[in-house]
Amino acid sequence: MITLYNTLSRKKEPFEPLQAGRVNFYSCGPTVYDFFHIGNARVFIVVDALRRYLSYRGYDVNFVQNYTDIDDKMINRAAEQGVSVSQLAEQYIQAYRDDAASLKIKEPDYAPRATEHVPQIIEIIKKLLDKDLAYEVDGDVYYYIENFPQYGKLSQQGLEELSMGARIEVDDRKRHPMDFVLWKKEKPGEPSWESPWGRGRPGWHIECSAMSMHYLGQTVDIHAGGQDLIFPHHENEIAQSEGATGKTFVQYWTHVGYLNINKEKMSKSLGNVLTVRELLKKIDPYVLRFFMLSSHYRNPMNFSDEQIQQASSALERLHNLYYNLKDRLSIAEEGVLDRDEEALLDYLKSSRAKFIEVLDDDFNTAEAIAVLFELLKEANIYLNRAQGLKKNVLEPILNFYKEVNEIFDFIEETEEELEQEIKELISKREEARKKKDFATADAIRDDLKERGIILEDTPQGVRWKKISDQKSKL
Ligand SMILES: [Zn+2]
Repeated sequence: MITLYNTLSRKKEPFEPLQAGRVNFYSCGPTVYDFFHIGNARVFIVVDALRRYLSYRGYDVNFVQNYTDIDDKMINRAAEQGVSVSQLAEQYIQAYRDDAASLKIKEPDYAPRATEHVPQIIEIIKKLLDKDLAYEVDGDVYYYIENFPQYGKLSQQGLEELSMGARIEVDDRKRHPMDFVLWKKEKPGEPSWESPWGRGRPGWHIECSAMSMHYLGQTVDIHAGGQDLIFPHHENEIAQSEGATGKTFVQYWTHVGYLNINKEKMSKSLGNVLTVRELLKKIDPYVLRFFMLSSHYRNPMNFSDEQIQQASSALERLHNLYYNLKDRLSIAEEGVLDRDEEALLDYLKSSRAKFIEVLDDDFNTAEAIAVLFELLKEANIYLNRAQGLKKNVLEPILNFYKEVNEIFDFIEETEEELEQEIKELISKREEARKKKDFATADAIRDDLKERGIILEDTPQGVRWKKISDQKSKL
């Protein structure tokens, strides 16, 4: 049984999707006015791994992540760069997709854009006006929060507390200072759409209500995002969606914790906003992915050069094990197992069960990774045997790590052809050494090293491993 922590109840709850075997999953996507930063990357990677895990556990997952392609930031940035808002969106949607692909984040089943769902947005606003949950003032439409008594249930604060915590501009046109905009009257030079209230554009929060309900129905199983979205974004999504339909909008609210940089909050004013685009010039994407999954998703995380170095060395140990298993497997044969081998396979079995158990428990990737390293120790002891490694021991261990990689995807798979080529070069080098042609042997080794492949002479023969080009300095 999977349990997930639900921000709404502040408790872990048994996970029971509305339709058996199927998960409808929505996650708030990027505002495409810039490259996404490392804090966003944490959310995207965790959500990607959770989505993969649910598939791995047999669910048919339908995953939607939107692009916010119209809002104040988009309009301001487009004006600064002298391009249209849609050109800016096009440019950064492509950039998002490229960077996400580098981080092995899978494409969503749907990646809808706000600007392509204005009719759905208008429909919800009309319903809210009919139900007296919204009001129009001179071409703007606001949500009327005093008429939605549950407002604040996600952030678990009353209106007064919320009002005190928020920075609110005084606006005489609003009935309550916390009323938020659903539709903004057009301003000269801004993109706008026709509506019953004149030309204008949607406010930010309404787009997620509209797209989630359009693609996934009035009640979605999981709605995810960064912790910073709890208030006001997700609180407002609830008010809009539940106000319009009278139904529960989200079964499980999942929020990913903050990421600090060198123990400081990442912010424009501190000048420490790190974009993934920049970081990937210095940090291996697999290391970044591994790092993000090495903490429990709800805990705050600190990003520093030291942490990345640690993640890098840890991941390298996993890589080495993986390649060694593959390498030894290619020459191993089946055989009758001795007592130690039986014990190792039993240990593998319990490791796999434990791996699933901890991930089922509110997706504890930190514990799951610990399981991988405990198994690694045992597997390495076996690999260091002088001889007699058996196929029917190596193969199930390797298969387990392959299975893990379907979810975590932080072990870099080499191409089959590359592996074949490396093996041929190793045997050529062996021949050259037998003939005492050391020049050729060294040339082969150097050539491979150039390509990031390191050869090691061990009592069990020559092994190779791939090294990550990890030279991070933040
Ligand atoms: Zn959203």
